[in-house]
Amino acid sequence: MTAPRKPDPKIETIAASASVGADNPHAAMAPPLVMSSTYAWRDLDERPAFDYSRSANPTRAALADALARMEGGAGAIVTSSGMSAIDLALHMAPAGARVMAPHDCYGGAYRLLEAKARLGHLAVDFVDQGDDAAFEAALSQSPALVLLETPSNPLFRVVDLARRAAQIRAAGAVSIVDNTFLTPARQRPLALGCDVVVHSTTKFLNGHSDVIGGALICADAARHEDLCWWANTLGVTGGAFDAYQTLRGVRTLAARLDAQERTAIALAHELRAHPGVSQVYFPGLADHPDAAIIARQQSGPGAVFSFTPVGGADAARRFLEAVSLMHVGASLGGFETIACLPAVMTHAGMPEPARARAGLDAALIRISVGLEHVDDLRDDFAVGLRAAAGASGG
Ligand SMILES: *Cc1c(COP(=O)(O)O)cnc(C)c1O
Repeated sequence: MTAPRKPDPKIETIAASASVGADNPHAAMAPPLVMSSTYAWRDLDERPAFDYSRSANPTRAALADALARMEGGAGAIVTSSGMSAIDLALHMAPAGARVMAPHDCYGGAYRLLEAKARLGHLAVDFVDQGDDAAFEAALSQSPALVLLETPSNPLFRVVDLARRAAQIRAAGAVSIVDNTFLTPARQRPLALGCDVVVHSTTKFLNGHSDVIGGALICADAARHEDLCWWANTLGVTGGAFDAYQTLRGVRTLAARLDAQERTAIALAHELRAHPGVSQVYFPGLADHPDAAIIARQQSGPGAVFSFTPVGGADAARRFLEAVSLMHVGASLGGFETIACLPAVMTHAGMPEPARARAGLDAALIRISVGLEHVDDLRDDFAVGLRAAAGASGG
């Protein structure tokens, strides 16, 4: 008779208990910050577990362990940024390999892939991955890697991860999902059959707008080992202090996301009913074109949405100049509400024809909802929308 299996702990429990009280000289409850770049060899014939901090660092290992368990992977690699995590993932493919990416992927990923293609390091196809015919046509070109990003930024298009993962595997390619927008608290791509997850931990995972960081989590242990080798060889691993801060942020991820998402749901619905708003893009709206997929693969809509005010790009500028509680900036996922005009900010690196192909309107405003009270944010939206409509206010 086998003992009943202990159920896997929930995301909240993994985050709150990761490395707490782990063995250390003082039995400190909070895992210590180990800044040392190098470590003593106590025995010349045995390489210590921690030898040199580019290869391995105890604080970074504590964060990696938490992230691997939260995503359900064989291991996690903590990198210096989200971009270095994506670049590290590209090291799974040989020189000249094809990479398929979403036509509306994160602007930095677009820039990286396009620049590498220009150097001849790889060939890239930017594809509307919600379009079955376009996706299958690109897959028939035998890509080595397929980058997925769902929901997409800033239009919150959704792709069916389980279905795409199966197609990618059948084609002999490796699937990589950028899970920055939802985090494992809302979407777990490895459980849906995907191979690799990448994160910008700069966003929700750290959540306090004070670290640039990334992570890469593999479902497969051999692939994890191979990419650990590359991370050390390239020197893209993250710093100890950043890992310390990020693990501290991860402890409260679920609670932050619950609160921020609740406010995002309220505001998105109110904007949708507002006469000064022409369009709202948010996975939490019941009439989202991919509502059935969202219900299957996301445990919530997340806390970021986009909208276009009536009146075009000039109205969007008036909105951003009038608001005072939300801040105009480029990031997302922090405790503070950030408004962004993607066409001139996050997606400025994307050439205009590519922006048009991705359906990125110059008037589109993206909102990352923070932890402020919903009533105060509602007032700020009212001020912004009055200004957008051309009213002098007051
Ligand atoms: C921010 C972001 C990145 C890049 O991460 P950095 O930490 O800024 O390097 C990649 N993907 C998505 C979806 C992002 O939002």
